[in-house]
Amino acid sequence: MALLSEFSIIETYFARSALLPPDISLAQGDDCALVLPPADQQLCLSIDTQVAGRHFLETAPASAIATRALGSALSDLAAMGAKPSHFTLALTLPGADEKWLAEFSKSLSDFASKHGVVLIGGDTTRGPLTITIQVHGWVELDKALKRSGAKVGDLLVVSGSLGDAAGGLSLIKASKYYSEYLEDRFYRPQPRLALGQQLIGRATSCIDVSDGLVADAAHLSRTSGLDIAIELSAVPISSELLGRFPDQAQAFALAGGDDYELLFSIDTKSFEALQSESDMPLTVIGHFGKPQEKDKPRVMLTENDCEVRLPREKGYLHFG
Ligand code: ADP
Ligand code: MG
Repeated sequence: MALLSEFSIIETYFARSALLPPDISLAQGDDCALVLPPADQQLCLSIDTQVAGRHFLETAPASAIATRALGSALSDLAAMGAKPSHFTLALTLPGADEKWLAEFSKSLSDFASKHGVVLIGGDTTRGPLTITIQVHGWVELDKALKRSGAKVGDLLVVSGSLGDAAGGLSLIKASKYYSEYLEDRFYRPQPRLALGQQLIGRATSCIDVSDGLVADAAHLSRTSGLDIAIELSAVPISSELLGRFPDQAQAFALAGGDDYELLFSIDTKSFEALQSESDMPLTVIGHFGKPQEKDKPRVMLTENDCEVRLPREKGYLHFG
């Protein structure tokens, strides 16, 4: 991209915020940004790339591309229990479309201030529309929530409801029916940052549900070396999803991705304390046990504690 236009894009749409938090001493406009790590905190960072046509529909509104990119990136910080601080943005643009840039940057900065993060730098290039966001947060030394660490007897708990984003995506693709709730669940994922921080010192392992409940539970199972039993009737499904997709709601909840809820292991006592503190709906959907087959931990789906196998033809593996 020509130097002037790159410069004016940055100046106009991605300028330094007037109110930089105390840990940021230098942001956009120099060769690097400067960040002062708070004492006794670890830097928690994660990067995500979204390519048009691959990770979002070419027709998606610019505002939704921004909230999905930043929301999903911040969800990784939530899953570690980190407090978000700042982020960088690498933007590859096919051209300098002013309307698109205005909508994208407004949505990005509104969403960022809502979640307490500030843009401190990035890179702007020309090419097929691609958005890369690296988020940074702070977490107390050695306290971050990992995917490993669940204990035998721990509960498996999930926040919010599952499957909504898959339902929303399906409505968006069909562009026939409309549900603001479901479409927002896909386009404007809400990272569960407050919950993540409340889980510190309580949850024994944690992950955000980005690939689908069963797939993400399998990560906890594998890294903790334990079996997980998920009781099907306990999986939380919103009335909106059930109303719109009575036949597919359960498949969406088990295998649809992009919900960005937190899935974690916790003992019963810590869970009671958490419940009295958290505003989020929290549902116990299963528990951790010793692997039935040694060295082969796995996720089982149960009905009244008896294992069931779901028919493939119902689309449960559809999103894999
Ligand atoms: P350099 O050539 O030194 O890498 P650039 O011209 O790429 O510098 O960027 C100039 C300044 O603008 C840097 O401080 C960079 O962090 C910032 N910047 C570039 N693109 C973006 C963007 N999309 N969002 C925020 N800041 C950006
Ligand atoms: Mg650069």
